[in-house]
Amino acid sequence: MSQKTEKLIDKKGLRLDGRKPDELRPIKIEVGVLSNADGSAYIEQGKNKILAAVFGPKELHPKHLALQDRMVLRCRYHMAPFSVQERKSPAPSRREIELSKVIRESLEPAIFLEYYPRTGIDIFVEVLQADGGTRCASITAASLALADAGIPMRDLVAACAAGKADDTIVLDLMDTEDKIGTADVPVALMPNLNAITLLQMDGILTLEEFKKAVNMAIEGCKKIYALQKEALKLKYVSVKEEAEE
Ligand code: ADP
Repeated sequence: MSQKTEKLIDKKGLRLDGRKPDELRPIKIEVGVLSNADGSAYIEQGKNKILAAVFGPKELHPKHLALQDRMVLRCRYHMAPFSVQERKSPAPSRREIELSKVIRESLEPAIFLEYYPRTGIDIFVEVLQADGGTRCASITAASLALADAGIPMRDLVAACAAGKADDTIVLDLMDTEDKIGTADVPVALMPNLNAITLLQMDGILTLEEFKKAVNMAIEGCKKIYALQKEALKLKYVSVKEEAEE
């Protein structure tokens, strides 16, 4: 109950970590971090630390899951037992099963699934440290891991949430804002195609607040998209340099 009275926005309009309402947390992205995966990416967004690995396209096992006209995308989102303050059970929770589905469905529209019938791709997301907004950061990283694996895609998918802290609409909620705040609106976007692939809402917002949150999240996704492209290019600069040596 005492948590409920904590102020999330100070007199200057700044948040607990000093951010302005429409400011993202610091983001660091690296592509191609795992040599045994076909594609991989690592993201730090604030205190979140997340690895995404992609295997495929490959023959599906069990075979009866294969589809004649398209590839099957599978996704496993998993939080490490040490990723949150109180040890999380390593067994898959209902939340992890749900987020695995949410992440998969956010990425599916971006992939030319019809190019590889009867095959499958596995995406593994490992949350090493969680601090709110892990589904969005996972989508951002997994989309880069797919691109790194050379999967033909319509666009990258960038994801970011906006929500409500005290009476203010804010971008990229951290864990405390997610828990104490009154609403959370995660959005995933294919920025070049201007198409939303994920829109969820947890909490209560007026229609005006909802529109403001969605627009703020879209702007956040566009900023993240620029960082994704930078990280992808950086990978190929280092590959070129290695080849030249
Ligand atoms: P998202 O991470 O996409 O915001 P949720 O809204 O379900 O998804 O979770 C918000 C945050 O709650 C997570 O990012 C994490 O910091 C925290 N959290 C999730 N599961 C647990 C858990 N089992 N124990 C402690 N904290 C958790």
